Amino acid sequence: MSAALRLPPPPVRRGACPSVAAPMPTGDGLLVRLRPRAAGLSPEKWRAIAALARRHGNGLVEVTARGNLQIRGLTADSARMLASGLDAADIALRSGTAIEVPPLSGLDPSEAADATPVAAAIEAAIAARGFALAPKLAVVVDGGGVLSLADMVADLRLDAERTAEGVMWRISTAGDAFSARPVARADAADAVETVVGLLGLLAALGPAARGRDLGEALVPALAGPTVRPSLPPVPVGPIAVGAGQVLGLRLPYGRIHADRLEGLANDLERLGATEIRLAPHRALLVPGLAGEALAATIRAAAAHGFRTDPDAPGNAISVCAGSAGCASGLIDTHAVADLLVAEAPSLFGGAPGIHISGCAKGCAHPAAAAVTLAGSAGGLGLVPGGRAGDEPLAVTDDAAAAFARLEALLSRERAPGEPLDSLLDRLGRSRLKAAFQGRT
Ligand code: SF4
Repeated sequence: MSAALRLPPPPVRRGACPSVAAPMPTGDGLLVRLRPRAAGLSPEKWRAIAALARRHGNGLVEVTARGNLQIRGLTADSARMLASGLDAADIALRSGTAIEVPPLSGLDPSEAADATPVAAAIEAAIAARGFALAPKLAVVVDGGGVLSLADMVADLRLDAERTAEGVMWRISTAGDAFSARPVARADAADAVETVVGLLGLLAALGPAARGRDLGEALVPALAGPTVRPSLPPVPVGPIAVGAGQVLGLRLPYGRIHADRLEGLANDLERLGATEIRLAPHRALLVPGLAGEALAATIRAAAAHGFRTDPDAPGNAISVCAGSAGCASGLIDTHAVADLLVAEAPSLFGGAPGIHISGCAKGCAHPAAAAVTLAGSAGGLGLVPGGRAGDEPLAVTDDAAAAFARLEALLSRERAPGEPLDSLLDRLGRSRLKAAFQGRT
């Protein structure tokens, strides 16, 4: 190991969440994941974050798929200085079990309920009882609305439902709003008690227990039909919320240089924005702008390198840090993503999700995707309709040529207006394999 990469003993075991007090070793020094306590931060505070990332980290600021902030390239000393700097900038952070609410909670008139007080009650109850829970355990409290968390996988979910009796919360285990197993329905006060009871059960099962361990024998499923919500949009570009608009800005592949973030914060302040919120899908949200200020913000954000076009092909790709920022990365995921956009445009444009993973772990998208490309010891693996950890259908060591052949097959065979997933199904695994591996 080179001197530059020599790291102090790992302060936390791998698999734990790398908070600012317990950073995690990666291929690019230490990493911290930050969950600001405030829903939105002022442009001034974003400038402070950019300055701290530049001074103490590798100069890049990341937003994760779950809407957390990440700074990499730290040492044990610089991580401590980062923590002091955040404190000096008056940026309070959450710690402990992640309790996630939609990014526009309390701002969106279309939500069934404001999830914030319910989340606060659960957080307070966990602290009061001192539960020792699995480090990566996540609770989603989803009040609904335009940018709901319906697609967010969690150990425990609370989903607000409008009923004849008022708002009720559906409690379910292990999954997103479509796949989680409903186990109870209650008003807000009883829902908090029920979830705290389930967390107590998990604590009793041990510090590694997750929502999936609450099986039918322990917690019987709720009988009766369940109303499933619709899928929220990826927050890119202007999004109608109530009578106004919220601007979604996506970080390309989830990361942006601190200089660009600082430039955005300066421009947003000049244009009248008072807060910027973190959002799932590696995005930032800017509420409160309209008319020419909104249009000028879109232009400024694009000039700083943020994605503002909801139809940009790269929006469809989930990408992890890859070999550029993770010791386990076997491929440069960002370079592969750029190559895929350039060489295989038929995979984009209304396409379902594409996942490019540095290794079989699949951090950026643990679920199956329409097309997964994962790094392996043998090269780049293609997994149609599967997860990064699934056996690849085909492996190549020449991605550019494989993508060009795939593009030729897809563009030649596609019927007018045919969706990508139907085309992939119709072509079948053997033709996809032959195209990817170069035996057409
Ligand atoms: S999927 Fe692999 S390469 Fe990508 S961040 Fe996770 S461990 Fe690292």
